[in-house]
Amino acid sequence: PPFFTAIFIIIRLLSMIKASSKPLDVHHKGMKALGIAAKLSVDPSAIEAASRDFGHIVEAIPKAVLHPSTPQDIVALIKLSYHYSPVPFGIAAKGHGHSVRGQAMANNGIVIDMKSMKKHPNGTGIRVSTADGLYVDVGGEQLWIDVLNKTLEHGLAPVSWTDYLYLTVGGTLSNAGISGQTFRYGPQISNVLEMDVITGKADVMTCSPKKNSELFHAVLGGLGQFGIVTRARIPLEPAPKRVKWIRVLYNDFSLFTRDQELLISRNGRKDKNALDYLEGSLLMDHGSPNNWRSSFFPHSDHSRIISLIIKHRIIYCLEVVKYYDYQTENTVDKQMKQILQGLSYMPGFMFQKDVGYEEFLNRVRIGELKLDSQGLWEVPHPWLNLFIPKSQISDFNNGVFRGIVLERNITTGPVLVYPMNRQKWDNRMSAVIPDEEIFYTVGFLHSGGFNDWEAFENQNKEIMRFCKKSGIMVKQYLPHYSTKDEWVHHFGSKWKVFQRRKHQFDPRMLLSPGQGIFNNY
Ligand code: FAD
Repeated sequence: PPFFTAIFIIIRLLSMIKASSKPLDVHHKGMKALGIAAKLSVDPSAIEAASRDFGHIVEAIPKAVLHPSTPQDIVALIKLSYHYSPVPFGIAAKGHGHSVRGQAMANNGIVIDMKSMKKHPNGTGIRVSTADGLYVDVGGEQLWIDVLNKTLEHGLAPVSWTDYLYLTVGGTLSNAGISGQTFRYGPQISNVLEMDVITGKADVMTCSPKKNSELFHAVLGGLGQFGIVTRARIPLEPAPKRVKWIRVLYNDFSLFTRDQELLISRNGRKDKNALDYLEGSLLMDHGSPNNWRSSFFPHSDHSRIISLIIKHRIIYCLEVVKYYDYQTENTVDKQMKQILQGLSYMPGFMFQKDVGYEEFLNRVRIGELKLDSQGLWEVPHPWLNLFIPKSQISDFNNGVFRGIVLERNITTGPVLVYPMNRQKWDNRMSAVIPDEEIFYTVGFLHSGGFNDWEAFENQNKEIMRFCKKSGIMVKQYLPHYSTKDEWVHHFGSKWKVFQRRKHQFDPRMLLSPGQGIFNNY
C-alpha cells in the first residue's frame, strides 16, 4: 500500500543521509591516537578557503582541513582513512589551489593545506646541492617562485617552467607544467630526478626512473591519484643573466604556424642556435593590447596594432626568447637575427625587449597584481586548455578561432597557441598528449564575471562539440570531465595502466576525489 511504500522510502532516505555523513568523524579517536587532532581545523574560515579555488566555479565543502607540519602528519591521516570503516574519507592535497574545477577539493572529506609545511623548519624546504650533480630538493608544497629565488642565489635554475610561478611543485607535477620552454626542455614532469611520495596506502616511497619506477611514472601527470609528493629532486643548470625577448605579428595563420614549427625544429639541449622559449597568442578586439600580457607593446604602437586587429579581426603573435649571459652578450643579437631570418611575419611589426632572466620568468606577476588591485583576479575562470595534433591545427583555426570565437565575440583574456615536441615527453608517465610528433597547446584563459561566466562555459562546450564533430583528436590539458566514459576516452590507450596503477597505489580510492575520476566522496 502507498502508505507503507512512503514510510519505506523515508526510512531509506534517512539511512542514506546517515550513511553519507558516516564516513568521517573529525573527533574520531584515531585522530588523537595518530597525533593529528590538534592539526585538524574545522574553523569556518579554513573550511571556506578549502571549498574554493582559482576557478570560482565549483564549491565542495570538506569536513576539516589538515595543517600538517611534517610528511608524517600526512601519513597518519592517510592511514586513518585507509582503515576507516565502512568507507574511507576522501583526501585532497591542496597546493596553491590554482586549479579551476575543484581538483584540489574533497567534499565531506579532508583537505590537506600543503602550504602549512612551508612554515616548519623540519620540512623539506628548498635545498640546493652542488656536490654530486646540480639539483635542488624541493618540498611538494613549495612555490616555483621560491624555487627560482633560492636557486638563483647559487647562480643556478631549473630549465622548465610554467608561465606563472605562484603554483606549487606538487600541483604542476600532477599535471605536466608547460610553457614556452617545453618544446626544447620538455615539460616540468620531464625534469624530475626523484621524488618522495606518500601513497594511498600510507606507504612512504622514494621513486625515480630506476627505483619504484612504476610509482614515479604514475605520479608525474597523475592528477594526484597515486600519492602525495612531499619532495621532488629537480635538475639545475647555470642560470642565464638576461633575455632577448621578441614578438612579431602575423595575419596569416598558416605562415604563423609554419614559422613556429620551423623554430621548434631546432630543439637540441646543447644547440646554441636554438631558442630558449617560444609561445604564441591571439590578439583580438576584446583581449588586446590592453590585457595583462600586452604591456609588452610600446604605447606609441598601440594604435597601429589596433588598426591591424580591426582589419583582420584576429592577429597572431609569435613570442620568442633567447637567454644570454656576460660571455654571450656580444653575440646574442647576431644569433637572434640568424634564427629569425627568413620568417614571414608582417614587416614593421617586430617588437623587442631586453630584460633580466628573473623578470622574464616572473612576467605574469605584474599582470596579476594589476588585476588584483582592480578586483579582477579573484573572479570566475572558465578556462579551457587543449592539446591539438599539428595536422588538425588549421581546421581548428578555421572552425574555432575564425568560427566560434569570432561569431560569439565574447572572448576576453589571453588565448595562447604554440607547438611542442612529443619526443620531449615520456609516454610512461600519466600525462595524456596527442599521438603526433608535433602538437599544439591552445589555452582560452577566460575571466568572467560572477553573473556571466556561463557564456564562456557554453563557448567551451561548443568548441569541444566542434572538435568531436570534425574528428579533431583533441586532448584536454588540466582535464575536467563529469562522466567515467569521458575519462576513459581521455586516457585512451593509457586508461588500463592508469586504472591498474590506481588499484596498486590507492586501492581504496581516497586520494584527490575532486578530479572526479574514480570517486566523488
Ligand atoms: P592545486 O590546484 O592546489 O592542486 C592541483 C591538483 O594537484 C589537485 O588534484 C591536488 O590534489 C594535486 N596536488 C597538489 N599538491 C600535490 C602534491 N604535493 N602531491 C600530489 N598531488 C598534489 N599550468 C601550466 O602547465 N603552465 C602554465 O603556464 C600555467 N599557468 C597558470 C597560470 C595561472 C594564473 C593559473 C591559475 C594556473 C596556471 N597553470 C599553468 C595551471 C596549474 O599548473 C595547475 O592548475 C596546477 O595544478 C596549479 O598548482 P597548485 O599548486 O595551485 O595546485
